[in-house]
Amino acid sequence: MPELPEAETITRHLRRELLNKRFARVIHCRRDVIRHGHYRELRSFLNTPITRIDRRGKRPFLEIADGRGIVFFLGMTGRLSVCDSTTAVENHTHLRLQLGDSDRELRFNDARRFGGFGFYTRRNECEPVGIDGLGPEPLDVTAPQFRDICARDRQIKALLLDQKYIAGLGNIYADESLFRAGIHPLTPASNLDAKQVSRLLRAIKRVLTEAIEYEGTTIINYLHPDGPGNFQTRLRVYGHEGENCRRCKVPIERMQVAGRSSFVCPMCQPPAA
Ligand SMILES: [Zn+2]
Repeated sequence: MPELPEAETITRHLRRELLNKRFARVIHCRRDVIRHGHYRELRSFLNTPITRIDRRGKRPFLEIADGRGIVFFLGMTGRLSVCDSTTAVENHTHLRLQLGDSDRELRFNDARRFGGFGFYTRRNECEPVGIDGLGPEPLDVTAPQFRDICARDRQIKALLLDQKYIAGLGNIYADESLFRAGIHPLTPASNLDAKQVSRLLRAIKRVLTEAIEYEGTTIINYLHPDGPGNFQTRLRVYGHEGENCRRCKVPIERMQVAGRSSFVCPMCQPPAA
């Protein structure tokens, strides 16, 4: 499932390909993947320059000059890419937008269809529908902000996965950050002391920064638009059940936390007393 580093990698790819360009034609659009707004709005994006391409949490978006935009929800298997129009069209391609003066096009593909896209209008400084209701960006969050987030009486991993408190972490990077900080995922957040909280924030920023450098993690569902991401070689616990921890040589365990598989080193991440 794409998380912040994968969304960032996709966003950079889209920026290189689409910034200041215009869409000229809707080649294909499956209407039931539209989450907000109506199909007819898509046509109003044609022939207007794309002035901003960014992401919020795990959601890439692109905007035209009047503050209207398209936000993409990648769900479990959502992929965005810009390719030549002659490239074979894969199954589950739900959107194809052709660029003007070019034989390139944007494609949105989502096999499992938990994702989709929506249209928004940016008014004043308010965050529009689709990118609102999200907590701060983990790479920008300050130490005091993060201390407030962690003051809750909730299991730390469940808290990290909850996008309304912090936006962009999913299962992989939450597990990797907790391992690097030496914190068990079931620990109530409010039990963490000040040192653990700052260690966790540092671990999150380091893991995400490194994963962006490696252009994300390719496990099953994500493919960097120009090829696979490479962070999977850097994973220390995620997907390594039964293998020896690199740090202490004790086998890594898999457990359920917040309904998700979690990978934990029982020695480096001792359960809270
Ligand atoms: Zn260990």
